[in-house]
Amino acid sequence: MLDVTKIRSDFPILNREVNGKPLVYLDNAATSQTPQQVIDVIVDYYSQYNANIHRGVHTLSQEATDRYEQARQKIQKHFNIAEAHEVIFTSGTTHSINLVANGYTSLLREGDELLVSAMEHHSNIVPWQMLCERTGAILKVIPMNEDGELLMEVYHNLLSEKTKLVFCNHISNALGTINPIEEMISAAHKVGAAVLIDGAQAAPHIKADMQALDVDFYTVSAHKLCGPTGVGMLYGKSEWLAKLPPYQGGGEMIAEVTFEKTTYADLPHKFEAGTPNICGGIAFGAALDYLNSIGLEAIATYETALLKYATEQLLQIDGLKIYGTASDKTSVISFNIEGIHPYDIGTILDKLGIAVRTGHHCAQPIMDFYKIPGTVRASFSFYNTKEEVDTLVTAVQRARNMLL
Ligand SMILES: *Cc1c(COP(=O)(O)O)cnc(C)c1O
Repeated sequence: MLDVTKIRSDFPILNREVNGKPLVYLDNAATSQTPQQVIDVIVDYYSQYNANIHRGVHTLSQEATDRYEQARQKIQKHFNIAEAHEVIFTSGTTHSINLVANGYTSLLREGDELLVSAMEHHSNIVPWQMLCERTGAILKVIPMNEDGELLMEVYHNLLSEKTKLVFCNHISNALGTINPIEEMISAAHKVGAAVLIDGAQAAPHIKADMQALDVDFYTVSAHKLCGPTGVGMLYGKSEWLAKLPPYQGGGEMIAEVTFEKTTYADLPHKFEAGTPNICGGIAFGAALDYLNSIGLEAIATYETALLKYATEQLLQIDGLKIYGTASDKTSVISFNIEGIHPYDIGTILDKLGIAVRTGHHCAQPIMDFYKIPGTVRASFSFYNTKEEVDTLVTAVQRARNMLL
């Protein structure tokens, strides 16, 4: 069992008021809040050892380099990654996916096929569309059903020796669906296709094991798991990372530069041009320490109970429909009330101190599938409480009465 009162005291922001009401923060799928333990690491970096890494002989630079590389090892260990150099620091999931999509330009030929799931975030659609425009490869969609579950039979039929890459999120940010990625990865490998899993939404809830999954690429954003914005991970198997050309040119990523020819640095530096988000990388490691001190299994159990309770309570409201009813899902509830625009509900909730997201959640194809402009999305974290769910339900009921 989680000691939620104690956990909440780790998050200073949870004490603030919004519009004269205690903040009820239910936009965790967009970004999570930051515990004092991580804030302290950020303050410590800038007050004690701020320096550029990998080049200085001086003490501060060495301290910063050590802490940055230790963070890489923490990430490696957390995701059970075989080699530390398979952890590439990026600015987040969007950057990670663009890095891979860009690298594939030289690996694809006209007529090659890429499979994308119907429930992707725009950041796992648009870079691949751009890649298809550059290469003449074809993007095919793995469809889903009304519950927001992928049609796995169709997926198996879409796979062929033409398939070069499959990409899918581990968990949908708009629907909460946990996708059957183990099955997807092993089926793709049978036809020789590589798989990229967007783990942005999964990492705060599930400890994904890269070696057990045998996944080729996996992406994470630190800001969704109690870390800072602007930093994340691309995991890639060494063999794939070796095949991809560098994404950006600059400092840190070279072995030798002359005006005639430049040779590139080894992994991971080949993909880490320029001064990285040093403090962010170190704080990313601290955020994983924080989550592990609570335990991801305990977190998942608690959040699942909260999801069940919130779902039952919200469904009591007349005309409320939940989008995303997969049998395997995390603590994201996307909903609408018949006859009311989601934006209007969100605005009233904000007046009552409740932060939810409204709109298409960077997943317009999902909204098109359900033929709706968007939804109201409440997403819960382990620092949310049953009382906050009650506050949400009462407020949604009130919004309904005001707007209908
Ligand atoms: C948040 C999110 C992204 C985008 O992450 P950024 O941190 O904005 O790059 C991509 N996919 C999913 C599933 C997400 O939840």
